[in-house]
Amino acid sequence: MAVRIAIGMAVTVVCLAVAGRRFYWLSRLIRSGRPAPERTRGSIWPRAEAEVTEVAGQRKLLKWMGPGLAHFFTMWGFTLLLFTIVEAYGDLFQPTFHIPGIGTSPVLGFIETFFAVAVLVALVVFAIIRIKNAPSRRERTSRFYGSHTDAAWITLALIASVIITLLVYRAAQVNTVPRQFPYDDWAFASHAIGAGLAGLGAGVNGALATTFLILNIAVISGFLVFVSYSKHLHIFMAPLNVAFSRRPRALGGLDKTPNMTMEEVTEDTVFGVGLVEQFTWKQLLDFVTCTECGRCQSVCPAWNTGKPLSPKLLVMGLRDNMFSSANRLLHQPVAGHGGADGTAAAAEPEALVPATIDPDVLWSCTTCGSCVEQCPVDIEHVDAIVDMRRHEVLMESRFPHEAGLMLRNVENQGDPWGLGQAKRTEWTKALDFEVPVVTDAIPDEVEYLYWVGCAGALDERARKGVQATARMLHRAGVTFAILGPKESCTGDPARRIGNEFLFQEQAKANIETLHGVGAKKIIATCPHCFNTIKNEYPALGGDFEVIHHAELLDHLVRAGKLVPGNGYSGTVTYHDPCYLGRHNRVFDEPRTVIDAIPGAKNVEMRRCRERGFCCGAGGARMWMEESIGTRVNMDRTAEALGTGADVVSTACPYCMIMLDDAVRANQKEEEVRVLDLSQLVEESLLVSATAATAAPAALPGPDVAAREGTLSANEANESSEE
Ligand code: SF4
Ligand code: SF4
Repeated sequence: MAVRIAIGMAVTVVCLAVAGRRFYWLSRLIRSGRPAPERTRGSIWPRAEAEVTEVAGQRKLLKWMGPGLAHFFTMWGFTLLLFTIVEAYGDLFQPTFHIPGIGTSPVLGFIETFFAVAVLVALVVFAIIRIKNAPSRRERTSRFYGSHTDAAWITLALIASVIITLLVYRAAQVNTVPRQFPYDDWAFASHAIGAGLAGLGAGVNGALATTFLILNIAVISGFLVFVSYSKHLHIFMAPLNVAFSRRPRALGGLDKTPNMTMEEVTEDTVFGVGLVEQFTWKQLLDFVTCTECGRCQSVCPAWNTGKPLSPKLLVMGLRDNMFSSANRLLHQPVAGHGGADGTAAAAEPEALVPATIDPDVLWSCTTCGSCVEQCPVDIEHVDAIVDMRRHEVLMESRFPHEAGLMLRNVENQGDPWGLGQAKRTEWTKALDFEVPVVTDAIPDEVEYLYWVGCAGALDERARKGVQATARMLHRAGVTFAILGPKESCTGDPARRIGNEFLFQEQAKANIETLHGVGAKKIIATCPHCFNTIKNEYPALGGDFEVIHHAELLDHLVRAGKLVPGNGYSGTVTYHDPCYLGRHNRVFDEPRTVIDAIPGAKNVEMRRCRERGFCCGAGGARMWMEESIGTRVNMDRTAEALGTGADVVSTACPYCMIMLDDAVRANQKEEEVRVLDLSQLVEESLLVSATAATAAPAALPGPDVAAREGTLSANEANESSEE
């Protein structure tokens, strides 16, 4: 007895000491990051809810049913098997030990046995998934490409060892005299294995019980050490990371940044992140929490089109840099940021870009948010990427040179194309009604300010969508006015590329304009404008009620104020714009509008809604060359064309441009049209007016629809209502 206690406790104490030292080191390392005060402020309830849904409920993991269920049972198995750890240590000192009060309950016996078996089954599932997805077999298409697969196999082996030693020592306890095992037949696995061991006799079973008990304690203790040095750190880090993540989610607006003014800039000011210690502690926590599961990588449009960016490899690279920089982070302050104990003189650290993060990796991101959406431990990739872009742009003046023109245009002309404010009302000339242009204050009788956006006002193709939206709103009796020459770029492309200064200048000027004209309710057609005004302007003092035109169309259709015609007949596939769908959860509304068009059959692409694939324009990628791999818009359009739809519908001017370009590049423009949702609704009205004389096959093209729609839409609806 004394020997087994000595061995069990010696192994435990040594492993606890090693693991404890490692966890202490990790906690110091994480705390060496910049402050993130907003992560510990505010209501605790959204964070508590996230713990329940994300950690306990495994919400994101269960979206991938096979591995999700396997992980669910493993996670809960390990949680509930904490009872067996208490029992194992009790058994070490007293072989007939049971937990006081509940330690003989058949319910507890059943739960322990059930989850022990469930974990073993889950391990088999994990092993099959890993073999099927082995990078050696599938290379870049494997989500495990670049992950530490050896460590994953060791983890599976260690978990299996924990369960097997547990089952064997408890099965042997069934056969000892007196019986040491405290549970009845409900602990079915222990009794079944025990039946197999019964023939060995009580003495051998007693020895087996002792041996496997010590092995069980040794494996558990060793596993703790292994976890503290491996990607399985997430067992402990994930609940913390989820608790401190941005709520309700880390999508929509970017994380808050300090209000920037030139007066506050000193020579010590560091913009963005150039060294790993310039990340916040929450971001450092992100890096050590990554499980290397590769879910983010498997959905990333950059990775899937042959670019070097994998959000998983990016996070792993930052984590490796953090670990290799630990000495500096903990002892040596660098310019712009002090080390944890602020002692030694500044060392010359290696910049993250290009040493750890290749520029092509950094600039490949479309900020689509797929990675954040999928990550089961709520890592915030997009914020980290934009932080590093900020440093490149504002501190190093390094960015794709072709994007420089866009930034200059925004700064000097107020739009990325540099066409100037005067052209911002030209699109209204195609309308047969007046759109009030606000010069002073929005008239009382006007309900909405229509924020047209640069693309909607200035790009020929995007204008069609804006014009159709204006006509549909007018038709439904919605009153709106525009800012015309007073409207300027929201600053979204400047912010996404990393020019936070320019973004804040644009944002502050726009907020002042909006306040000046008394804007309260804003309709946005561009999801990027919608997202920026709705989610990012509040941090700079601009609080407005913002609605996207897809939401408003949905509302009008539901309210019966806009009744689609019955003339359109065809198949529509809807492309979710990232900044409308994933970033702002507007998934159902556009589909409701399409479903309300009697002749429209909606066919979904495989990657739709939360998993919608980017068009390639976000993150200021619209203004950068795409010379590596396949073009993202070609990949997406191939999927859209594969549905057989004759209309690819969307609700974003940038998506329209990108998808239309790709349809033309595929020479499919005669068969497939790319239409804004408003154009589709308008076309249903237009065709219904002529349905008696024109076959659906002879549908007018979008130009005709846009040009004629206004003239005939009202008549069409009147005739359809008769
Ligand atoms: S935001 Fe999109 S493009 Fe950028 S890393 Fe994530 S998944 Fe890839
Ligand atoms: S970042 Fe998240 S989704 Fe990507 S590999 Fe790590 S844990 Fe998985």
